[in-house]
Amino acid sequence: MVVGGGVIGLSCAYFLARSGCEVTVLEERVMESPNCSTGNAGMVVPSHFIPLATPGVIGQGLRWMLKPESPFSIRPSAKLALWRWAWQFYRACSPSRVKAAKPILRDLSLASRTLFERLAEEEGLEFQLVQRGLLALCKKEETLRHESTVVDQGRVLGIDAEVLDSKAVNVLDPGVTMDVAGAVYFRQDCHLNPAAFRLELIRRLEEMGGKVHWESKVTGVEHAQGRVHSVSTADGNAWHADGFIMAGGVWTTTLGEQLGVSLPMQGGKGYSMTLTSPRQLPEICSLLMEARVAVTPMGGKLRIGGTMEIGGKEGVINEAKVRGITKSVPNYFPEFQASDFEGQETWTGLRPCTPDGLPYLGRCPGLANTFIAAGHAMLGLSLSPISGWLICQMVNGETPDVDVSLLDPGRY
Ligand SMILES: Cc1cc2nc3c(=O)[nH]c(=O)nc-3n(C[C@H](O)[C@H](O)[C@H](O)COP(=O)(O)OP(=O)(O)OC[C@H]3O[C@@H](n4cnc5c(N)ncnc54)[C@H](O)[C@@H]3O)c2cc1C
Repeated sequence: MVVGGGVIGLSCAYFLARSGCEVTVLEERVMESPNCSTGNAGMVVPSHFIPLATPGVIGQGLRWMLKPESPFSIRPSAKLALWRWAWQFYRACSPSRVKAAKPILRDLSLASRTLFERLAEEEGLEFQLVQRGLLALCKKEETLRHESTVVDQGRVLGIDAEVLDSKAVNVLDPGVTMDVAGAVYFRQDCHLNPAAFRLELIRRLEEMGGKVHWESKVTGVEHAQGRVHSVSTADGNAWHADGFIMAGGVWTTTLGEQLGVSLPMQGGKGYSMTLTSPRQLPEICSLLMEARVAVTPMGGKLRIGGTMEIGGKEGVINEAKVRGITKSVPNYFPEFQASDFEGQETWTGLRPCTPDGLPYLGRCPGLANTFIAAGHAMLGLSLSPISGWLICQMVNGETPDVDVSLLDPGRY
């Protein structure tokens, strides 16, 4: 029984069904309803081997908070959970914890990338996977200098990255004009259509006999003697199973309360907009480094996305943040205008952000038949196949291919 029909829950369901398990997914929303897994930037990013919680990020965040259009903010709240999370985040920003997190993020990302390739090439899932790398575009020389230090760190970990000057960047992707000082080219990164990927997981899951029950919000968990016996849904039904996976994105914190495990998370709200007829269409996805905006070609369309509003509410649109995203695009792509995005529908999603930037992946403490798969923050799409695969291995009593000890759901 998988609770949550986002990309993480569906990936768990997919691999479990493929391994021969009888799988049911319970999802609160209807199938067509967006969640964080549908409108994101669609990037698969081995380049993101540095966790969100890093030394220096708090100072930068505080400076950004003074500017309404900046890419980061914390929604002021009197809630104790937010302030506790902020303290845990601060504690995680130490050099030793970041050093420990990097290899696991690298291992998860590279393994996940391989699985995406297999899903597309060997298992026939169609989700527009493009393996052309990612450009971290730097408007300023100073940013490019800083990013080259990331290249050095990446190379130590086996990440394929190269610094390019402005001319080389434009030669690499001639379909779009870029006005930048240069870029870091991460060759192993890729991009895809996240909504298509989610639909393909559902299609294949159902072909394998799995079931997804929409409009089924889990409101209660019944557990005794170290096992969960059933979950109940808002419509009054009780659902029994041999094993349970809790994969409800940022809302897994609430499920954790019922399981007796503390899974601190805050929603990191972001926005995206998709141009159906963009003025130019890059072939390579990019990050606008100073603006923290992601730009992804998807079929003939172009998606831009960004902003991290900690504690943000889903669906509520902060126009200043959206302006900050749209205004940044012409700075890097001079053929575009901010007005290109006027009248475009704005999607919002809540990234499930743990305090230390690492997901919760593994057995729920004290409950032999229950597993947690949540908290992937800005990497949920990227890490979805490997998360599903590792959960499948753990459920089936196998040793996971990647050491998941740092991802222990009991760590808080
Ligand atoms: C602007 C933006 C850009 C992003 N770009 C990228 C990117 O390029 N690459 C990348 O890797 N990641 C990206 N992300 C992050 C990624 O989208 C998330 O990490 C990922 O979607 C999280 O997936 P999830 O399945 O954990 O959560 P969700 O997608 O939120 O799914 C959780 C589901 O669980 C359901 N649920 C919750 N509680 C219950 C319950 N009690 N009962 C039943 N159902 C329940 C919810 O309704 C929801 O559908 C981006 C995010 C944003 C906001």
